[in-house]
Amino acid sequence: MPWTERAPWVLIRQLRAIMASTSEPQAKLDSIVKVIASNMIAEVSSIYVRLPDDALELFATEGLRKEAVHTLRMKKGEGLVGLIAAWGEPVNLSDAQKHPAFSYKPETGEEIYHSFLGVPVVRERRTIGVLTVQNKIERRYTEEEVEALETTAMVLAEMIASGTFAGAVVPAPSRRETSVTLKGTPLADGLALGHIALHEPRPAVLKFFAENIPAELKRLDEALDRVKEDIARLLLDDTPSNGEHKEIIETVQMLAHDRGWARRMRDAVSAGLTAEAAVERVQQNMRTQLMKTGDSFWRERSHDLDDLSNRLLRILQGYDHGAALSRLPNDAILVAHNMGAAELLDYDPKKLRGLVIEDGGATSHVIIIARSFNLAVLVQVPDVVAAADHGDPAILDASTGQFHIRPSLELIRAYADKARFRAKRQARFFKLRHAPAVTKDGERVVLNMNAGLLVDMPHLYQSGADGIGLFRTELQFMVAPRFPKMEEQRAAYTRVLDMAPGRRVVFRSLDVGGDKVLPYLRKFHEENPALGWRAIRMSLDRPGMFRTQVRALLRAAAGRELSIMLPFIADLSELLAAKDLIDKEIAHASMHGHELPTETRVGIMIEVPAVIYQLDDILPLVDFVSVGSNDLLQFLFAADRENDRVARRFDSLHPSGLKVLREIAERAKAHGTDFALCGEMAGRPLEAMALLGLGFRQISMAPASIGPVKAMVLSLNTKKLRERLFELIDRNSSKIRQELAEFAQKEDIDI
Ligand code: PEP
Ligand code: MG
Repeated sequence: MPWTERAPWVLIRQLRAIMASTSEPQAKLDSIVKVIASNMIAEVSSIYVRLPDDALELFATEGLRKEAVHTLRMKKGEGLVGLIAAWGEPVNLSDAQKHPAFSYKPETGEEIYHSFLGVPVVRERRTIGVLTVQNKIERRYTEEEVEALETTAMVLAEMIASGTFAGAVVPAPSRRETSVTLKGTPLADGLALGHIALHEPRPAVLKFFAENIPAELKRLDEALDRVKEDIARLLLDDTPSNGEHKEIIETVQMLAHDRGWARRMRDAVSAGLTAEAAVERVQQNMRTQLMKTGDSFWRERSHDLDDLSNRLLRILQGYDHGAALSRLPNDAILVAHNMGAAELLDYDPKKLRGLVIEDGGATSHVIIIARSFNLAVLVQVPDVVAAADHGDPAILDASTGQFHIRPSLELIRAYADKARFRAKRQARFFKLRHAPAVTKDGERVVLNMNAGLLVDMPHLYQSGADGIGLFRTELQFMVAPRFPKMEEQRAAYTRVLDMAPGRRVVFRSLDVGGDKVLPYLRKFHEENPALGWRAIRMSLDRPGMFRTQVRALLRAAAGRELSIMLPFIADLSELLAAKDLIDKEIAHASMHGHELPTETRVGIMIEVPAVIYQLDDILPLVDFVSVGSNDLLQFLFAADRENDRVARRFDSLHPSGLKVLREIAERAKAHGTDFALCGEMAGRPLEAMALLGLGFRQISMAPASIGPVKAMVLSLNTKKLRERLFELIDRNSSKIRQELAEFAQKEDIDI
């Protein structure tokens, strides 16, 4: 009888009987392989267990030669078994011997077997063993068979991790006493001193076999209902931070109501697993499938699935998440394997200082939200969850990418000094926030801030910025589960304008493509995405999308001023085409009787070098230009801004870059066109000083930089600086940074 027609509960019942018996661990393993082989009608079934040197040792087999047990070892990465351990994923082959990784071991007598199925035995996300079946005939194992083997692997994981087997690797318990420093990739700057709050670790599933299936089904259903209620409550919460992220929570909600997910879990319980084991089983299975798609949208869904599964497990195990949230230390550094965006929103942002994620990538939703909470963020920190304990003191230094767990007293003191110094500076800058930025020689400088989400808006007042020089509209699109509708866009822009009364906000039209991925938009493979189909190029090829955004902006700004900035213009014709579409939208709005903005200003970003040589034609046609120095410099120096190895290779104060910026400033002045700069360099006091020397009087930066840059402005004499700077540029000095720093020191400029 093929496996598909056999009830999975037969295997589960047998496994349960073995685990409940009083036999020795080795005898249990021997019975398990027998049961698997007979259930799956496999000629071979084997268990390999990982050793501390990462080799995999054959611990039990049915079908291979018995002499190989405890003598056959596969070195790390060796053979198909090594491959499964390395990837942490099942391997299903109709003819294993044809696979390049196949490694023939004569002592096993396996040369007569062709089909092969192996699954990892995973505990706390680490592969601690491999379970395989083999058959003589060539065939691919069915999905049900893969699932059955994975269920068995789950039971085995528990048995191995309980330390029953001498020599086997057991996931390390945390090392409470010792200091540990781990390295990761910083994704948001900052220094956080505080205490670790382990984002509730996955509760371990200890009981696998249901004693009373109807009762387990009831537990599962009740837990599912509670999860749905919790998510619905999150959606009702209308605080600004939550309001903005509603769409993310809606995606999680959709998954929570997914019938397929619930059905799979109920099926697993009906087959004889406990509700907890069923949640874990289905989670592992779906995660593998989602990750396989290689698509970032589905990868993100796998985080949402983890989020929901963890919520379910916590409820099933009676863990009181609410109580744990309220016990959060006031200086919490959250540590998580991974975290769904909705999970971060559960925490009180006032109590959070930092976020450390073992996996995680730059574009995941949770990072975007963490940034808007102003947290220091570190991702890709291997083994951090195992090393950290709830309540441990810790220091997260995003400037070096280091995470110090249980640091020594000396280290704490050194960092406390650093933090105090930062806090003092912050307090001084805070005092300056109402003072206008005027240089010592009377030049008024407009210090704007860059923003992109509603949660950024309160920084406008806290920082004392004059306005918003760059509103990156794509962020709303990046955190949404699908393309935001016109009305959703309009609502967001209206709130932005409402939150900045009397201040200018420059909305940049959608700048996606390149590194800014919209998970729901079909991706085309591009060899060089930074030079590819992005920003205005995409907008002009999808005029409907662009016009919808313009329509939303026009409606939001009815009766007030509107500034639209076009990113990545490389040719005059693109500006003309975009202006034409904007004009059409203005005509459409008037025709339908909608109130128009009092003024609609249109400008471009100068990010592509070619545009500099068209300025005489472009400047008369625009109301303003703003230099996107991040992109402009990466193209000028042919150095990818996202690639750490080259990004810092060329100084933003290189004479070539400064000459280009001077040229732009002078052309714009000659045409009487408003000009500004909104790249990262504007936020660094020394670079900002150089920009003032070149003639810039409007710059836009991250809100945290407004204070330090204003302090510089207040202590500067631009005339003296200009002379010195031009002299350095004209003789192509290779030490401009150093010379400017010395100049600042001599002139007592606050850098
Ligand atoms: C720039 O390129 O300098 C810029 C401000 O745009 P972004 O960083 O969003 O590409
Ligand atoms: Mg740019």
